[in-house]
Amino acid sequence: MPIARTGDPNVFGGNGRGASPAPVVVAGAGAAGMAASLSAARCGASVYLIEAAARPGGTVADVLIHTLAGLYDSSGQLLQDGLGGELIERLRSGDATVRRRRMGRLWVLSACPDRYRQVVEEWLASEGKIKVFPHSRVSAIACEAGRITRLKIVGPHGRLALQPGAVVEATGIAEVVRAIDPGLIQDEASCSAGGMIFRMRGVVPGSLGFPGGARLVQALRAAVAEGKLPPTCAHTWIDTGFYEDEAFVKLFVPLPADWRNCRGEITREAKRVRRAVVAFLTKLPAFAYASVTQCGSLGVRDGGRVQGEYCLTADDVRQMRKFADAACRGCWPIEYWDPIRGVSLEHLPPDDYYEIPFRALKVKGLENLWTAGKCLSADAYAQASARVVGTCWAMGEAVGRAAAGARTQAERANCQVRTKNEHQPLPSVPPNGL
Ligand SMILES: Cc1cc2nc3c(=O)[nH]c(=O)nc-3n(C[C@H](O)[C@H](O)[C@H](O)COP(=O)(O)OP(=O)(O)OC[C@H]3O[C@@H](n4cnc5c(N)ncnc54)[C@H](O)[C@@H]3O)c2cc1C
Repeated sequence: MPIARTGDPNVFGGNGRGASPAPVVVAGAGAAGMAASLSAARCGASVYLIEAAARPGGTVADVLIHTLAGLYDSSGQLLQDGLGGELIERLRSGDATVRRRRMGRLWVLSACPDRYRQVVEEWLASEGKIKVFPHSRVSAIACEAGRITRLKIVGPHGRLALQPGAVVEATGIAEVVRAIDPGLIQDEASCSAGGMIFRMRGVVPGSLGFPGGARLVQALRAAVAEGKLPPTCAHTWIDTGFYEDEAFVKLFVPLPADWRNCRGEITREAKRVRRAVVAFLTKLPAFAYASVTQCGSLGVRDGGRVQGEYCLTADDVRQMRKFADAACRGCWPIEYWDPIRGVSLEHLPPDDYYEIPFRALKVKGLENLWTAGKCLSADAYAQASARVVGTCWAMGEAVGRAAAGARTQAERANCQVRTKNEHQPLPSVPPNGL
């Protein structure tokens, strides 16, 4: 493949004159990677955003997540200033179906995944300093004296060799760090379960509310007990969608420790289960005229976390711990998807938040390598809270600012979130909800 020539002096093959500040290279255009790119670009950096898939959007758009968690605190106010609030405004603009929604004790933003994809694509395109490379991957990385000095990107554009100022690992599954040193990854022997989501239309309106929705779940569990559906279907979750006749169905997909080597097989099996669930549902009166309208790809909740300068622990999350080098806040419960027992939700104290320190987003041993999103440096239970979409956006935003300029601890301090006392009151939510 030819080496692409861009005229950028930081690209090997560029003219080498008038060197501009070295670019920030972000791997992965999901929630964290897009936020990192936007904030780095707004700090003046040139950003190369490298995405393995055809389009940006990540898990939210590919897996079909329609309840964005981690944006609000326990009273439904924005949890932190920054890109999360801007994301909400952009999603809401011209789309009345996007709304703040209460789920038990929690608040989420209900937004169609297709709308999310369209909005983030337009947003990235509007930032002149971000170049998006779809269908691309980081193929080689050279490190010298504790820094990433060069890396190569391969994709339809050809091969590009870059001298990055900083690199952000936001692949969600720690692919870049794994390529540098697999010893820097925390993989669990027993991974938290993944999922597969699909949408159906033609459902009898109102049938997913109380008590109809609960009866549906009972019917699925009874079918499992009678051997009519596979055991994993006992953990199926069914939710309302954006039309009165729409349902989102979330299947439970346990992942073996070596899921990377058998992703195709796991996906085929999950699709087989999906067909069985659809056949079962469409025999029920509420789904008699329903059909599948959209299917998401296999979703991985925890594909390995990096070893950072600090490992965020479940205790930090439970104690709502604050840090001197805080990057952002989180307050979502510890939502752990046990591969056998299913989901457990451990609520955190209301009206408070924990902080994620920059050290949990700084990869150990490499001064210009950051991480953000679900592969942050955390134990499995802390990650089960911090991985939600709003928190991934907040981590990405903080890391983007740091990667764009802050090299030292003191410079990083300028990128920190302000603590609640120093903070301006957060914008309140309009009384009629979002
Ligand atoms: C089934 C399921 C249900 C969920 N439900 C919810 C929910 O209801 N609410 C909520 O808030 N959160 C939910 N989550 C969690 C949340 O969606 C994710 O944790 C979050 O979106 C992760 O964001 P991220 O940016 O870290 O990673 P991702 O969004 O996964 O982005 C990573 C990106 O990197 C790309 N990539 C991977 N490898 C490479 C590579 N080598 N080179 C370049 N690019 C690469 C991927 O294609 C992807 O676009 C759910 C997750 C799953 C799996």
